[in-house]
Amino acid sequence: MEGALAALKDEALYLPHADRHRLVAAFDVLSRAYALLSAPSAPSALSYGFRFQGSATHPPDLLRVLDSAVANPFPALYERFVMPTLVPPEAGGPDLIGIGITYEDQLVPALSLARLLRRQCPTRPIVAGGALVTRLAAAFVRRPALVGTTGPFAPFDAFVVQEGETALLAVWDRWQSGRAFDDTLPNLLVRTGGSAAAPTLARGPAHVEDVARLPTPDFRDLPLSQYLLGDPVLPLLTSRGCYWGKCAFCTHHRSYGPEGGFRARPPERIRADLDTLAARHGPSRLSLVDEALPPRHLRTVARHIRAGGLGHRFFADMRFEKGLSGARLEEAVAGGLRLLVFGLEAGSARVLQAMRKGAELDVAARILHDCRRQGIRTAVMVFIGFPGESVAEAHATARFLQDNAAVIDAWGVGAFSLMEGAPAYVAPAQFGITSVAAEPDEELSGRHDYVPRTGLAAGAASRIAAALERQRAADPRPTAHFPRELLAALK
Ligand code: SF4
Repeated sequence: MEGALAALKDEALYLPHADRHRLVAAFDVLSRAYALLSAPSAPSALSYGFRFQGSATHPPDLLRVLDSAVANPFPALYERFVMPTLVPPEAGGPDLIGIGITYEDQLVPALSLARLLRRQCPTRPIVAGGALVTRLAAAFVRRPALVGTTGPFAPFDAFVVQEGETALLAVWDRWQSGRAFDDTLPNLLVRTGGSAAAPTLARGPAHVEDVARLPTPDFRDLPLSQYLLGDPVLPLLTSRGCYWGKCAFCTHHRSYGPEGGFRARPPERIRADLDTLAARHGPSRLSLVDEALPPRHLRTVARHIRAGGLGHRFFADMRFEKGLSGARLEEAVAGGLRLLVFGLEAGSARVLQAMRKGAELDVAARILHDCRRQGIRTAVMVFIGFPGESVAEAHATARFLQDNAAVIDAWGVGAFSLMEGAPAYVAPAQFGITSVAAEPDEELSGRHDYVPRTGLAAGAASRIAAALERQRAADPRPTAHFPRELLAALK
């Protein structure tokens, strides 16, 4: 492990003519270490990025995993590595604790941490927020036992729904004043009555942040030297929501609420963010974590990094936009762009149109080739089984990946899920869905079973996706298995 960790931090191994196998071997050792660490907890497993695989989207399963010293490796890890570093509030430790939960595989680590912190800091507010908590707000109201004394979300005092900056300040002000939480707190879901085991919940008024006024994120409290790679990757948002916002399967916009929608940070604030991060951390690796980076922001970021000699390198998710020309990409590379991640979703023009993706296959292929010519790494995401997709159309997706393999460094595949709040869930008939199950298939997943009018059934789509995933796993190119931070670090 020591050799592997040193190799991952060795910038020389990321140079174009370095022996790539040393990096591959280091990442392999890391993956094996996670497998070893996970072995006693099987079938639960821990992998790179502290991701947890295990059945935990059904409340009884989640509680069983949380309570099990075998299936849940997190309490022991936290007790050993995190809790000893926590300063008690009386000695200047945290006054308020916020835990963000974005993905389902973060539930077990996040809830395990919240339980321990609740014991350690019994008098301090602990708040949950993030995209998954926003999505789960309706489930909490439907099933208050989830947040009751014996529920998995018991340790939290309040839940941020949608954006959290003003909400966290409101929690803090209210806590300091000694008054109880109520439904006047913006963007917060709080307990207002009922029983301890099944409380009544109330949600405060919706609040939309003014993205022009938010400060640059501050990472100075973090032990950045402990980052696995040589330079840490710092996340930065240049917009909230998605400027396209039409894809039938997508729920990203829900984190910002119908009231919020797309909001772009003004260019002068983006430039100030880049300057501030350079002043604090020097030339950095940045992950622009916008749902889809607007092309004009790509230009703003790249031009400013270059003009200011800031030395940042960055990667981002973007759409296959016609305007993303070779010249634009060349300018972006000169300003530090290293990797673009694209959601292509399907390799059939008809399916792309049906899902309102707004992408064209020939444009996608042209952009991928232009990226290769400019030395920009690429990752492409697809899924199988959008309602109405036929077997032949699913195969077209596999063919697109195959035909363009030389210009795609990494790709990911999944099966279609009908998520609560997605346009296809809100208006199923418009997207070829004849019926939708009233309840999610598991209470905490937000996924609903559905019946498509034509095309692949959900089970068949999952089987094709699994076959494609096996192909991906067998890809002999080492970069195909690198996480995006590592891919973006390659020079
Ligand atoms: S899938 Fe991507 S481009 Fe489409 S609406 Fe969602 S975030 Fe936007």
